[in-house]
Amino acid sequence: MSDLLARHRAVIPTWVTLYYDEPIEIVSGRGNRVTDSEGRTYLDFFAGIVTNTLGYDIAEVREAVERQLATGVVHTSTLYLLRGQVELAEKIARLSGIENAKVFFTNSGTEANETALLLATYTRKSNQVLAMRQSYHGRSFGATSITANASWKNSALSPLSVYFLHGGDRHLAQFRGLSDDDYVKVCVEDLRHTLATVVGGDVAALIAEPIQGVGGFTAPPDGLYAAYQEVLAEHGVLFIADEVQTGWGRTGQNFWGIQNHGVTPDIMTFAKGLGNGFAIGGVVARGELLDALHATGLSTFGGNPISTAAANATLDYILDHDLQANAAKVGERIIDGLRAAGARLDVVTDVRGKGLMFAIQLSSPEAAKRLLEATKARGLLVGKGGLYGDTVRMAPPLTLTEDEAEEGLNILIDALEEIS
Ligand code: PLP
Repeated sequence: MSDLLARHRAVIPTWVTLYYDEPIEIVSGRGNRVTDSEGRTYLDFFAGIVTNTLGYDIAEVREAVERQLATGVVHTSTLYLLRGQVELAEKIARLSGIENAKVFFTNSGTEANETALLLATYTRKSNQVLAMRQSYHGRSFGATSITANASWKNSALSPLSVYFLHGGDRHLAQFRGLSDDDYVKVCVEDLRHTLATVVGGDVAALIAEPIQGVGGFTAPPDGLYAAYQEVLAEHGVLFIADEVQTGWGRTGQNFWGIQNHGVTPDIMTFAKGLGNGFAIGGVVARGELLDALHATGLSTFGGNPISTAAANATLDYILDHDLQANAAKVGERIIDGLRAAGARLDVVTDVRGKGLMFAIQLSSPEAAKRLLEATKARGLLVGKGGLYGDTVRMAPPLTLTEDEAEEGLNILIDALEEIS
């Protein structure tokens, strides 16, 4: 065990996840590659933790942050006007597709979801919430309540009454043979049945990830959430899209993952990739809805000058370079390549994804662990997840080049062959 790992074990809780038998310490990054303390370089197919949308050390982001640092203001009270915050809110409001939208900034996805839950339950005067099975929404009391996997939460204690819906995946045997249309029909029937029988009284909101992130990048058929929204609208239930992993063009198809379903949500939450590694999250919703949280206040660090400088530069870069189109093109090449390899390798049970958000499901959690080690040994960083921990997830920077895509794909195929 390295000295740093021993020190980590001594002072960091045991449940904090660390990848690899011998965890690595990243000490530098350039482009879409990082280098560890032993001098080994890796192509990063997980973009940090779906955070480094533009990879590492992008001049535009570094210079924007340096310009802000040069003013001497790392942080000032969020009680004052902050130009960068207003500019960022204007951009996100415009991009959200939500009418007369307003934005509230937080420091993380968890806080963003807490704010969305508060907004929905307060304005709808109900603490009943619908969420999806196998969802992950964060680590706070409210966010773990709407998270649906026993191994991702500490208890079932909850400040909310939560009912979990089918639709995010097809783990159950009764769903597997169904066409997309039939699957959507069964799920909508389940939603209607839940609203009619399980739920007593009004429901505040449904919260859903357009593609389940930690759940293993399982995606419902496009259109499922539009069908849900139709039913929910009949009951006045708000739709919250958790775009923490799926926003900023990552899925290639649309700027927001929920747009792949033809849904304009009432509330959208975001975080992770917006600051290219700087901590920033937030909530965007119709102005009159967001304004209804009338208790005055602020977030001490939410929307601070450094994170908004990074986020403005990141967002401008994504739009100026049409990285959504790049995600579609490069992602398709990788997904096609993985599907072809998966078809001839028994260890692969599924390949799925959209744009630069794709996953390989393996025959067992042990196989996923071996693939993680085999890719690391070949200089590629990937993520893990899935309901049973049997899925290797990848979400490379949206700046991934075709050559890097090819390199990563070849490493993955080689590593899959080794573990087969
Ligand atoms: N929502 C989703 C979909 C996530 O994947 C995550 C984190 O992985 C969160 C919320 C929580 O975000 P954070 O870790 O920034 O609090």
